[in-house]
Amino acid sequence: FAEVSIKDIDQVAKSSFPPCMRHLFEKLREDHHLKHGGRMQLGLFLKGVGLKLDDALAFWKAEFSQKVGAERFDKEYAYSIRHNYGREGKRTDYTPYSCQKIISSTPGVGDHHGCPYRHFSEENLRAALGRMGVNSGALENVMDKVQNRHYQLACTLTFESIHGSSHDAGINHPNQYFSDSQKIFK
Ligand code: SF4
Repeated sequence: FAEVSIKDIDQVAKSSFPPCMRHLFEKLREDHHLKHGGRMQLGLFLKGVGLKLDDALAFWKAEFSQKVGAERFDKEYAYSIRHNYGREGKRTDYTPYSCQKIISSTPGVGDHHGCPYRHFSEENLRAALGRMGVNSGALENVMDKVQNRHYQLACTLTFESIHGSSHDAGINHPNQYFSDSQKIFK
């Protein structure tokens, strides 16, 4: 689908990123850094959203250079971004991660990848969903699904609450969450 450019990215992150990607996006803006697992999860998602390679390089560089400097970014991080776009190494065109893959990942200390429904504490999850605009009634239904380990159903209920519209197919991929959200907001 449509391309997303750097100038629109903060706005679409707010309106249409699922919780897993919103968290990574906010952490990147805050810390000007993400560890490897987060760079992969968010980077491939952004590629799926339609961010072109040149924009992706500019986007990551603007953040990372505030932390490690532009030179170190070019030396240590630019390669893996081009790699994700199939421009280096085996030239595989890597695909964005599915919910299943993200839910079964094992983030360590200082990592921000993973699925908030699976990997956040209850307190942090409630706060994050509140910030996204999930109302308190819907929040209890979401937490109920989380307790029963139905993370994708919890995400579907979140989508429905935020968008005020049903999502019968259910969420199984962050890029599906994004494109279905954009269809509603556009
Ligand atoms: Fe992301 Fe999928 Fe978890 Fe939703 S269920 S937060 S889209 S990994």
